[in-house]
Amino acid sequence: MSSTWHILGAGSLGSLWACRLARAGKPVRLILRDQQRLAAYQRGGGLTLVEHDGQRHYAIPAETASAPGPIHRLLVACKAYDAAPAVAQLAPRLAQGGELVLLQNGLGSQDEVAEQVPHARCVFASSTEGAFREGDWQVRFAGHGFNWLGDPGNPSVPYWFDELLDAGIPGQWTPDIATRLWRKLALNCAINPLTVLHGCHNGGLLGHLGEVDQLCDELAGLLRRCGQPEAAEGLHEEVQRVIVATAANYSSMYQDVRHGRRTEVHYLLGHACRSAARHGAAVPQLERLLRRLVDNLEARGLRSD
Ligand code: NAP
Repeated sequence: MSSTWHILGAGSLGSLWACRLARAGKPVRLILRDQQRLAAYQRGGGLTLVEHDGQRHYAIPAETASAPGPIHRLLVACKAYDAAPAVAQLAPRLAQGGELVLLQNGLGSQDEVAEQVPHARCVFASSTEGAFREGDWQVRFAGHGFNWLGDPGNPSVPYWFDELLDAGIPGQWTPDIATRLWRKLALNCAINPLTVLHGCHNGGLLGHLGEVDQLCDELAGLLRRCGQPEAAEGLHEEVQRVIVATAANYSSMYQDVRHGRRTEVHYLLGHACRSAARHGAAVPQLERLLRRLVDNLEARGLRSD
């Protein structure tokens, strides 16, 4: 079986993973959006990864979805709302027994992707690493972190897992990836929308702790209702710890809004509210928060779905 890492989406996280895998000598190919993006990439001649100790250029080969040849291993590095349509285009190239690693934040997009490729294994990832694009094809590795990977339907560790560690990508296989993703989603729901509504960095929420606490109450109840009691444990305390530890930072949702980009709200707060409805759980604070956020995004001319 081919050991090439196909990487769908050469944005922040996709480029960060691509450069580290390439640096470790692993075969990597980027899959870009269309011929125009491919031509632009080829004019630049590769990806540049900027780290604290300087920058390095990687001439990683690239193609579009319509290129020929089977794909055995695909790292999906699009935004949550782009993941399923982007994977659908590649489904005919995906080999029997192929594997996907899904880097999307939030929940819901993983199931949308899996529906497109019933013949493949989907591994979910939850990443606390941070990267952002300084320009096209140039990415800054801004925050060291960790990656949890797991497959809710199959606890066996994929044979390629050690390649990530060889490439200096910190990670661990976990049988509880759903718990990790739910916990991260809950933290996001308690912090990110409020930073948009109050127009503040994370530390600004220290002035709104009553509101944060009410959200945590509902989120903890929802997690238990969804069969995720572990993700509910100590949620209030962790949310407060995160607010204090990241007080000077702006949340990813705040930054998306500030740069006029579509947010992933549908797969974060939206997913929480849809799950509550499915389980018959009353979450009036979360629903009100979602309505306020949607109104806020629409008033700015941004998509709210
Ligand atoms: P990003 O910088 O916006 O990159 C997404 C990339 O996907 C873009 O390069 C985009 O192409 C590409 N794309 C979209 N549709 C495509 C298609 N049909 N074919 C090929 N490429 C396509 O996003 P990101 O920040 O890396 O985030 C990716 C996911 O990781 C998100 O769910 C995010 O929440 C999660 N995450 C990110 C970070 C981080 O620090 N960045 C940390 C943890 C989790 P164009 O360049 O042509 O627009």
